[in-house]
Amino acid sequence: LLDAESIKKSFKDNEVLKGVTLKVHAGEVIALIGPSGAGKSTFLRCLNYLERPTGGALSLDGQAAFVDPLKPSKTELLKLRRRVGMVFQTFNLFPHLSVVKNIVLAQKLNGLRNAKEAEDYALKLLGQVGLADKAHAKPSECSGGQQQRIAIARALSLDPELMLFDEPTSALDPEVGNDVLKVMRDLADRGMTMIVVTHEMKFAERVADRVLLLDQGGILEEGPPAQVFYNPTHERTRTFLQAVL
Ligand code: ATP
Ligand code: MG
Repeated sequence: LLDAESIKKSFKDNEVLKGVTLKVHAGEVIALIGPSGAGKSTFLRCLNYLERPTGGALSLDGQAAFVDPLKPSKTELLKLRRRVGMVFQTFNLFPHLSVVKNIVLAQKLNGLRNAKEAEDYALKLLGQVGLADKAHAKPSECSGGQQQRIAIARALSLDPELMLFDEPTSALDPEVGNDVLKVMRDLADRGMTMIVVTHEMKFAERVADRVLLLDQGGILEEGPPAQVFYNPTHERTRTFLQAVL
């Protein structure tokens, strides 16, 4: 589905990504783990060009996403972002709009569906994330976990083929965080392709097909959860896991 080929990113003379290569297959769930500052968020943001890589290339279904990866055109960016949705640590909902209107607006801004269809779809997605009863509430009347599930519904309303999650539960209390993880597990079960940056090792173990450990600007370890967690190749992986498990 998405191929990232030797993605590099530097901020001034700080080389954060030294060439990260990743092939994402349709239906796959990938957990991205690693120490703070390893470049997990940066890598995820490079995958939909919220951050512009300083080297490397992306392709979608075998086709280069950009004619010149260093000079993306507006059309190319829109196309990539339409296919690759993202959910952040913070929810960034519009406070003055009701929950359902937040999701309708996202569709409208992307030129998807007429008003009636957009609202029907928003209500359907809210049902899917267990929040049908909050449709007409304001975001401020929802808990953090509910707001994050609304943000997920909003991302889904754009019909992405790949969903990127950057520590979607790290700003939440554990109980409400679990509701969010459950929604993500449901999505995975329904075949959504996902990359999840997470410190929730239990979630990674249960849901991911593949775990990637990013360290010092590159992928240090990669494999099925059981292998990465219980039989890693590198001593550094053990040290990292001991610190987080
Ligand atoms: P965490 O687990 O704490 O979220 P991370 O693995 O997501 O960490 P990144 O946020 O990707 O790490 O940051 C990697 C490095 O890139 C850090 O050294 C950070 O200071 C640097 N960095 C990230 N964004 C920027 C930016 N916009 N400008 C300058 N430096 C940045
Ligand atoms: Mg991060």
